[in-house]
Amino acid sequence: NGKGPESNVDVLIIGAGPAGLMAASWMAHCGVKARVIDKRNAKVFCGQADGLQCRSLEIFDSLGFGDRAWKEANHMLEICMWNPGSDGVIRRSDRIPDTIPGLSRFSQIVVHQGRIERFFLDNIKKYSKGGIQVERGVLPESLTIDESKVDDDAAYPVTVTLRHLSEEEATPKQQISASKVSDGLFRSNLTYEDDEDDLIKKSSSRTGTSETVHAKYVIGCDGARSWTRRALGYELEGEATDFIWGVLDIIPITDFPDVRMRCAIHSAENGSLMIIPRENKMVRLYIQLKEVTPDATGRADRSKITPDIIFRAAQKIISPYKLDYEYCDWWTAYQIGQRVCTNFDAQRRVFLAGDAVHTHSPKAGQGMNVSMQDCYNLGWKVGLVAKGIVKRNILETYQSERRRVAQDLIDFDHKFSRLFSGRPAKDVLDTEGVSMEEFKDAFSKGNLFASGLSVDYGASNLILKSGDAAKQGDGSILDIPATSQVTVEAFKEKQALATGLPVGMRFSSFKVLNQADARPWHFQERLKADGRFRVVVFAGNILSASQKARVDTFCKALEAPDNFLRAITPSGAAIDSVIEVLTIHSSKRVDTDLLKDFPAILHPFDEHTGWDYWKVFVDDVSYHEGLGAAYENYGVDKERGCVVAVRPDQYVGWIGELEDFSGLQTYFEGILNLPQAGHGENGS
Ligand code: FAD
Repeated sequence: NGKGPESNVDVLIIGAGPAGLMAASWMAHCGVKARVIDKRNAKVFCGQADGLQCRSLEIFDSLGFGDRAWKEANHMLEICMWNPGSDGVIRRSDRIPDTIPGLSRFSQIVVHQGRIERFFLDNIKKYSKGGIQVERGVLPESLTIDESKVDDDAAYPVTVTLRHLSEEEATPKQQISASKVSDGLFRSNLTYEDDEDDLIKKSSSRTGTSETVHAKYVIGCDGARSWTRRALGYELEGEATDFIWGVLDIIPITDFPDVRMRCAIHSAENGSLMIIPRENKMVRLYIQLKEVTPDATGRADRSKITPDIIFRAAQKIISPYKLDYEYCDWWTAYQIGQRVCTNFDAQRRVFLAGDAVHTHSPKAGQGMNVSMQDCYNLGWKVGLVAKGIVKRNILETYQSERRRVAQDLIDFDHKFSRLFSGRPAKDVLDTEGVSMEEFKDAFSKGNLFASGLSVDYGASNLILKSGDAAKQGDGSILDIPATSQVTVEAFKEKQALATGLPVGMRFSSFKVLNQADARPWHFQERLKADGRFRVVVFAGNILSASQKARVDTFCKALEAPDNFLRAITPSGAAIDSVIEVLTIHSSKRVDTDLLKDFPAILHPFDEHTGWDYWKVFVDDVSYHEGLGAAYENYGVDKERGCVVAVRPDQYVGWIGELEDFSGLQTYFEGILNLPQAGHGENGS
């Protein structure tokens, strides 16, 4: 302790890749004091990850930059499978949609990691009003947790000393290849060249470049070789090595007909190739390199890996079609096993996310997505705990929710890699070869997983469902017992109220109209990532007297002075500042009147700005965009409706009848740091 100047910060984020930037983005959106450091002095400009799943786009949209990615990216609509025919020559055997139709309002796209990091940086700057900026050329030297303080909400129990590097020290060296193309080897796991120890040694002659930071929470997003993970003494478990893969981003000159489609090509004898069409006329080729194999230490001789070797391998696989290029944007080679970290946090004070806790092959385009999604899960929890809004034990759900996803990912990747890398079976008797039917089947099934939309979080205080319904994945991770347990039978009844909104899964999106101005919205567009929980009132047929009475009773409970909503709202703050209530009704829009038919709590009045016209929606036909059929799609009864609680990251946490206000109260009591007595006293 005590190295250089000392300061306190609520959240320190180590690493500004996609995971770290997602965490920083939450801090900006939640208004939390945070610092982000990265040992590199420059962000990624080309290459690296590029595939974005629909769930990632939904997330970007909730943060406010989905449109930028959607506009700039190349859209991938179809996957073509190429396999050898009986003559051994490759031919197209199948076409399948890249994204399962109807899953999301987005489909899978590709845009390179540098642009994604740019979108994040702009977003963080905007929402933190310049308060959070990536500090480059800074890396941690030591990390200690004061265990005597970990249960004290006000304490800063994590101490990290930081070293500031000079510009030269923080610039990664590139391998000089004949083509002078920038390569990604410095970020690949084939090299260890710029390990932290080396960097610190190199810079140790300099003075006055250290500082000490005391943090409430630390999030380690420092990639596959995570310093933070090593500082905690944690290890990745699983298979350490895989084949070596080469990646080339080129503008192809070819007579191969499907070069603008995503293709999986299995050649008879020369291995497999994945084609990913990219923005700016580019195409990415993923090729397994058979010529270069790891040595006894598991490392490969990097001098043997050149863009030419990678390219020649691709030419062989795609033959008899011709493939050439003049422009190569980026290339790399890497070797990744399927591994997961045993622990995702230490004392619920230091967390690990992204590649720091799971590594796998990039063939299914999952790494960046799952890494960002780790922090989409973690960021608001840490942010709201730091602000004193939610209970600290909520942080336990990060590991219980995300480790299961990481394990599923590793299992998926293991299976997918084997099928992708294997030689195609010559016939049904060729048991050593991979059946192309099996490959297609795995690809189709994998597509749901790969969309990011199959994530189903297990039972906890945040996800009120019976434990049984939550069992999945590797089964080894126990759900966290909720304060209010739900029996299987009771849960079935609740889930039946909204069959299209499974508790534990993300709130799907259908079009509804704004009651006040008839504008159609995808409902998910209203679930912004601003750190607020939401209560969605499916008000049903509000024009029926008996249903209106039910809604009125629910709203009266919501207005009462001693409920969770009042108690968690800081005195003087707007009633929707911590929890927002949104309504979707099913009566005819033109027969309904916002001010007459809906209790004021559903569209609160502000003395400066009048009624809130952006909270009540209707499932009705629009002038230009048809009918979203939201009630039908959400599986909610059009007469009776129901109530749904939604987490800040859009996952459904609780479902109940309009009469079940006490159930809703209990749900929020399990999560929120409610003041002991009275209301309106929660400062933040
Ligand atoms: P990283 O992106 O590795 O970021 C870690 C950051 O931490 C870096 O900025 C690093 O400089 C910094 N850092 C490291 N150590 C320290 C330290 N000690 N102190 C301070 N800072 C530190 N994923 C996909 O989803 N789709 C794809 O198509 C895809 N293709 C890929 C292709 C290639 C060639 C590669 C190599 C990866 C690909 N991936 C893909 C994987 C994807 O790049 C990673 O999964 C993703 O970048 C992980 O994000 P992260 O933020 O966890 O880690």
